[in-house]
This record gives sequence, structure tokens and C-alpha cells, in this order.
Amino acid sequence: MATIGFIGLGNMGAPMAANLVKAGHRVNGYDVNAKVVQALAAAGVQAAHSAAEATRGADVVITMLPAGEHVRDVWLHQGGLIEAVKGSTPLLIDCSTIDVDSARVVTDAARVAGLEMLDAPVSGGVGGATAATLTFMVGGSDTAFARGLPVLQAMGKNIVHAGGPGAGQAAKICNNMMLAINMVGVSEGFLLAQNLGLDWDKLFQIASTSSGQSWALSSYCPAPGPVPAAPSNRDYAAGFTAALMLKDVKLSQAAADATGSPTPLAAHAMSFYQAVVDAGDGGKDFSVVFRRLANLNRQGQA
Ligand code: NAD
Repeated sequence: MATIGFIGLGNMGAPMAANLVKAGHRVNGYDVNAKVVQALAAAGVQAAHSAAEATRGADVVITMLPAGEHVRDVWLHQGGLIEAVKGSTPLLIDCSTIDVDSARVVTDAARVAGLEMLDAPVSGGVGGATAATLTFMVGGSDTAFARGLPVLQAMGKNIVHAGGPGAGQAAKICNNMMLAINMVGVSEGFLLAQNLGLDWDKLFQIASTSSGQSWALSSYCPAPGPVPAAPSNRDYAAGFTAALMLKDVKLSQAAADATGSPTPLAAHAMSFYQAVVDAGDGGKDFSVVFRRLANLNRQGQA
């Protein structure tokens, strides 16, 4: 079993680290928020007082951070982890969702230091992180992938080697762009149903077994009621925050601009998530976009 340094113990990182302990690994955890580190002691995660301390003696170092700037900061900047692990050769894995450029910059710096690195963002949300059923989209060399596979299998069910460095992030950005559009689409469907006098449970029963089916509908139904575990039934407590979804759609639009890819629906969906964040709901689950559309509906602006 491996010794694993785990940095970033938020909504996703905390249950992922706990699952590594359950699988028999020793996990040294660090987060700038000391409270989340303390909370994980009960799950058997050893508290480290700095990111560098978490990497001591590690066979594998994992980061699960909000965005590219945090990932570059933790791995590259003064006292960064690539420097901290000098003299040893742990496998480095970044599971955060970040821009492809940051992923490649960090992986290049690791390569120059003689270290192997994977970009391995995830899909499946907090539920998947807790149940160890995440999908991992992995970019990196064949040898790095083979090294990382047993560790990723302790946190997820589907581990897909997407290609070379950055390929995991590219897959993640495309996936979440589709999800962002889907969630707005499902929200519009339920609002139209309401205006047509159709019961939401009936629409759910039909659409979830018909061609309108999607993950946004069947796992995270944005209209309260049909899916008891969905954030819509707990005042849109995240879950996957609207702020993080906005970040991901922005990443997709930057990538679309850079490659000349037409993504008009994603651009429109992005404006809804931006409006949700501007209204102060960035910390709510991204399915709160339904409530914004419902408000527009009431105001006759939709
Ligand atoms: P989060 O904000 O809950 O957790 C991030 C953690 O990183 C926080 O606890 C924060 O204190 C910590 N952190 C920030 N800077 C740090 C630093 N310099 N050193 C150490 N710790 C630091 O976010 P999350 O929901 O866990 O998401 C993490 C990543 O996973 C994001 O990139 C997100 O896009 C992605 N993701 C999230 C979900 C989801 O459903 N929440 C699903 C798939 C992917």
C-alpha cells in the first residue's frame, strides 16, 4: 500500500482522501483551511501542516484544488511541491479541473525535474467522490498511467486514459460544457411543463426513460421533488457550485476561441451561470440556474 500526500481537502478532496484510507493507503492531508484537515482525522487522514510536509515520504502526491492558478501556485511557485519532492520520485497527480495550458505547464516542469505527472480530472460530483465511483479522465504517458491506476481505482470506477499530457483536462472541459448546456435545457423543460400544467413527477417519469434523458435530469433534477437526493431539494446546497461551473464553461469558451470551435449554445448557457454568480448564488449548486429561470418566468422576462 502506498503513502499518499493529498492537498486540497474540500467538497471533493475530503471524501477522495477518505476512500484512499479505506483502501489501506496512508494519507497525509493538507488544506489551507485547517478545519477541513481536522475534520478528516476521524476518517484516518493524517494532518500535515504544510503542503510540503504532506509530500514527505510520499509515493504519490495528489492535488484537488479550485482552479489553474491554485495548481500552478502549489506545484510551481517558491517552495512549490516540485521543489519539495526533490530527491524522491513520487508520481504526481492533479485531479483539479483546470485549463489545458496550466496542466501542460505543470507537467512540463515536473518532467524537467525528472518526475512523472498525470492530469486526472473527475466527473461524478460529491456523490461519486463519496461512493468511490468517480470517472477519471487521465492525461499523461503510458508508464505514468500504469503507476497511477491502482490509486485512482480506490477513488473511482471508470478510469479512462484520454491521451498525453493535458488530454484529461481537454476531456473534462468538453464534458462539462455539455453538462452546462444540458442543465439549462432540463430547467427550461420543467418550467415549460409547469406552464403547461404538467406534473413534474410525471415529466420526470417519462423523460428519464425517454430520449430527453440526461445526467442533469436523472441525478440532479433542478426542479424540486422528482429526485430526492438532488440539491434542488435542499435549497440548492452544493454539490457542484455554480461558481465552479461558470469557471468550467469559461475554460471551454477560452479553448473554443483558441481553436476556432463554434460553441454558441455554451456561450449562451454561460450567461445564465454568470447571472447566478452575479446575483450572489455562486456558492449554490449549479442546478440553481433553474431558480433563476423560474424567477424570469414569474417576471415575464423569459
Ligand atoms: P472546494 O472549493 O470545495 O475545495 C478546494 C479546496 O482547496 C478547499 O478546501 C481550499 O481550502 C483548498 N485550497 C485552495 N488553495 C489551496 C492551497 N494553496 N493549498 C492547499 N489547499 C488549498 O472545491 P471542490 O468542489 O472540492 O472542487 C475541487 C476541484 O474539483 C475543482 O477544480 C472543481 O472544478 C473540480 N470538481 C468538482 C466537482 C464537484 O462536484 N464539487 C466535480 C468534479 C470536479
